[in-house]
Amino acid sequence: MVTENLEAVRREIRAHAEKAGRNPDDVLLLAVSKTKPESDIRALYEAGQRDFGENYVQELCEKQSHLPKDIRWHMIGHLQRNKVKYIAPFVALIHSVDSRALADTIEKEAAKAGRIIPVLIEVNVAGETTKFGVTPEEEPSLAGYIRSLSHVQLRGFMTSAPIVQDPEENRPVFRRLRQLSVDINRQSINNEKTDVLSMGMSDDFTVAVEEGSTCVRVGTRIFGARDYSR
Ligand SMILES: *Cc1c(COP(=O)(O)O)cnc(C)c1O
Repeated sequence: MVTENLEAVRREIRAHAEKAGRNPDDVLLLAVSKTKPESDIRALYEAGQRDFGENYVQELCEKQSHLPKDIRWHMIGHLQRNKVKYIAPFVALIHSVDSRALADTIEKEAAKAGRIIPVLIEVNVAGETTKFGVTPEEEPSLAGYIRSLSHVQLRGFMTSAPIVQDPEENRPVFRRLRQLSVDINRQSINNEKTDVLSMGMSDDFTVAVEEGSTCVRVGTRIFGARDYSR
């Protein structure tokens, strides 16, 4: 079941990338496995999927310790500073950096783990009060700060668009994040590539791909609805 869903999502990514004149291989499909059992993750792994996203540190660490070591684990949820140490040794990409204080903690824990940790800045493009992330206005200064750190590597930007009836409504949100990324890269002094755009979820990833997403985070469309009651 999950593997058929994965294939269907891959096909849609391909179709919408081609429609926009993009190379489908430039779009990473991140399977968002939060709350979902390890058996589902194993099934997808057998089908070739290697990138998985989780929101909760404890769940992420448990799954990482049981599952194949070549899985790339992405932290996509809000990250508390006192939890960074648990994921620093293995996390592939942190999508949710939204303050200098958090960047400082990642810097410290990455140094301890002897790594350089790739990160994205989470941008609250639509200005929703319920969401984390910096404002588009704050973003350049945080980007400059992260670039000054030696064990944290800024790779790009992430946003979660609002829940809407019609995914077309989120097209301006995705377009805005892409423009922010273009502007930041124009200002870059030492040619550092911050070209990852993590945007698009189950309900709107097709529009996000058309607007330049390089990483879609898809949970429900692959795993089915989540049950938070357990
Ligand atoms: C849960 C989650 C997703 C996946 O959402 P779906 O609508 O199930 O695809 C993507 N990004 C973030 C940040 C999430 O928390």
